[in-house]
Amino acid sequence: MSFVFPPAPTPSVPVLGRAERFPVRRVICVGRNYVEHAKEMGFTGREPPFFFFKPADAIVPVNAGETGSIAYPSLTRDLHHEIELVACIGTGGRSILAADALKHIWGYAVGLDMTRRDLQGEMKKQGRPWEIGKSFEQSAPIGPITPAAQAGDVANAEIWLKVNGQDRQRSNVGKLIWNLGEIIEHVSAAWELAPGDLIFTGTPEGVAAVVAGDTLVGGVGGLETLSVKVAG
Ligand code: MN
Repeated sequence: MSFVFPPAPTPSVPVLGRAERFPVRRVICVGRNYVEHAKEMGFTGREPPFFFFKPADAIVPVNAGETGSIAYPSLTRDLHHEIELVACIGTGGRSILAADALKHIWGYAVGLDMTRRDLQGEMKKQGRPWEIGKSFEQSAPIGPITPAAQAGDVANAEIWLKVNGQDRQRSNVGKLIWNLGEIIEHVSAAWELAPGDLIFTGTPEGVAAVVAGDTLVGGVGGLETLSVKVAG
């Protein structure tokens, strides 16, 4: 097969302790999935889960022990951090039941759902799509994937983020409104999941702005820490 120009490279994420990388197909994100974060966004009560996507090449893979770099994006004056547990799908399927869902997860990683909050807010107000607030270049930094068998009990692990060494977000994955199995059940009812899909599972409270020069360090208990610097 030949192409009219060279195809873009396949986005991929490093795997802890392995030379092989995890090829990324899609980035699927869950909105408002921790109670205290829903509250700080102005919502209460358990609503059905909802989803948005980022392009696969929005990911910024960061190796273990290294600090990645993202550019401060265009148009915004309010770039927010959202630290999230990422479930990395190894086996696809549609209409997966929550009880069967965990075996579809190849591994876990720590990710950041970077958000142009001012632009997202404007789109919300107008009832328009969120893409301009969520789906932009370098909006999804992600650390190395830990295979599920080595990841421990991520469903009840601490999740945290520090900016320049100061605590910004701290909670527990056990506080997810929709847990990992339920997320996969809902996602796979709407879309056929495929190997390489990444699911960003939502962020706890404490989201706030970062500026050029800030260093973000985040983690989920049992997984490799993610470190990212915001360039100018
Ligand atoms: Mn998010």
